[in-house]
Amino acid sequence: MSESALMWINNRILLRRFSIKGRLVTKSPLRVGSGRGKQYLGSTVDLAVIKYESTGTPYIPGNSLKGVFRSTGERIANTRGIKVCSGLSKQTCPDTKKVEGIPLLKWLDNKRREIRSKPEKYQEGYREILRVVFDNTCINCKLFGAPSISGKLFFYDSEPEKYTLGVRTGIAISRSTGAVARGALFQVEYVEPGSIFYFRLDGMNLPNYAIGYIAEIIGELNSGRVRVGGLKSRGFGLVEIILEELKIDTYDGSMELRPLDNFDKLVNVAPGVYHKEQIPEILKKFIEAWRGVRIEYPLEASGY
Ligand SMILES: [Zn+2]
Repeated sequence: MSESALMWINNRILLRRFSIKGRLVTKSPLRVGSGRGKQYLGSTVDLAVIKYESTGTPYIPGNSLKGVFRSTGERIANTRGIKVCSGLSKQTCPDTKKVEGIPLLKWLDNKRREIRSKPEKYQEGYREILRVVFDNTCINCKLFGAPSISGKLFFYDSEPEKYTLGVRTGIAISRSTGAVARGALFQVEYVEPGSIFYFRLDGMNLPNYAIGYIAEIIGELNSGRVRVGGLKSRGFGLVEIILEELKIDTYDGSMELRPLDNFDKLVNVAPGVYHKEQIPEILKKFIEAWRGVRIEYPLEASGY
């Protein structure tokens, strides 16, 4: 792996910024719960949707969207023969990949401690960490993060522009797990179809193929094959993300988007701000870079 290829995973170097803004429209009832047994003051339903404590307005947490993007990405990557971990607790690349006979997570702990105690070895040790992380993590751990590894994507909480809440009674749901259960009936709150939330996703140092990957994930979400939140089996959770502004900044003075690692391709798009009607054409170029990519990480030798 060349030196420059390690730069995009280095959080200390800013190569480019990517920001996408738009609106998320609910196409069916949407239920993003507030977690186990969480009740809001004055709430009359058993299972409320998540809301801001201060205002009582519902929102979609950035972390929920991140989870949906990651699991959708996993399916897309798998169909392209690109290996990714499940991202589930204790099953991420740092948990499962072995480096020098120990899990990457432990190896990183050891290495970071070692270079802190030996300042003269810091630069060299830091480069080794970057190389080992690059070689031993999948694209999802690189982009979405994993224990001991910060991701490159930042999902904002989606706040509503306009919404209506609905309540369904008679759905039997376990209060403790949120799963559909036999027995007691509960009132379940949800956001009605046609509600609109603001959407924003930022990315740092994304290679061109990773931008294409994100674009494909958004396309998959909009296709109706992916559902968000709870009660998916009852037809809840269809959403559409309408992209309204795409902003790409680079810090190398380049007027096109150069490859950021050995697998990446140059994309002939100038840094700048693109508006709604321009975005599909721009993203198409990144999707081409993604579809042509042959990613060689994580290394086979340290298999899952
Ligand atoms: Zn992974």
